[in-house]
Amino acid sequence: MREIEKLKEAILREYPRLTRESSFTFACHKGVPCFNECCGDVNIFLTPYDIIRLKKNLGISSSEFLGKYTISPFDENLKYPIVMLKMNDDKKKSCPFVGQDGCKIYPDRPWACRMYPLGLASPSDDSKELDQEFYFLLRESLCKGFGEDKNQTVAEWLEDQGINEYDEAGEEYKNITLHPFFREQEKGLEPQKIEMFFTACYNLDKFRNLIFQSSFFEKFEVDDKTRRQVKTDDYALLKFGYRWLRFALFGEKTIEVRKQVLNSKRQELKNKGKL
Ligand code: SF4
Ligand code: SF4
Repeated sequence: MREIEKLKEAILREYPRLTRESSFTFACHKGVPCFNECCGDVNIFLTPYDIIRLKKNLGISSSEFLGKYTISPFDENLKYPIVMLKMNDDKKKSCPFVGQDGCKIYPDRPWACRMYPLGLASPSDDSKELDQEFYFLLRESLCKGFGEDKNQTVAEWLEDQGINEYDEAGEEYKNITLHPFFREQEKGLEPQKIEMFFTACYNLDKFRNLIFQSSFFEKFEVDDKTRRQVKTDDYALLKFGYRWLRFALFGEKTIEVRKQVLNSKRQELKNKGKL
């Protein structure tokens, strides 16, 4: 993780800052001499939306996907849990999804793979030095794509790679991770809350089972339409998970507790002489 921190510092201090209108020369295709070379020994952070797309592509559950293809590094400085793609245990540390013809899950490849060679620095990286996000170019020495004769703007690249859909889906996740609650925390979340965050953001099939197989809906007011949506639609469930995290972690009124639950809690406290 220290290497990542060093890279972040270098990006903030030294890398030219690009806007959506900036242009750059780059292309990646099967004809480049380095084809597939970058799909190994690489840190790929997965967003909650990446996981929805990847598990659907592979036709497996979120638990299976997380167990088989990811790692969640633990670092006491981390404010919330993160998930990374687990590279194979071979000489090249190759990505589990790389094949002779390139990426085997290409239509659902993660945000980070779509972005390369662009990176995005956001205020969460260093709130003191950065008040608005910017794009930058990551020039890996092995990458011959910069020698290709194709010029495009940052906005054109984002459009071409289908990034806008990912950014839209990731907006609320970003808002949660940038929440003042995390900035004010000196340490990471306690274990129970780490589990809650991890389940609501990344392990959606488990989250669905938890809310449908427990007394969740007896305790919280959730309208029928939302209930129907979260039962079958992962993206709707993810958005509901964000509401749940805002309620449970930040104390926001994004989910309503049922009146009878509040009344019986009040009565219980009265009986104990605490009210
Ligand atoms: S997910 Fe696809 S594009 Fe990304 S590193 Fe793996 S093989 Fe390459
Ligand atoms: S190293 Fe660069 S040009 Fe080569 S396959 Fe990867 S992204 Fe494409």
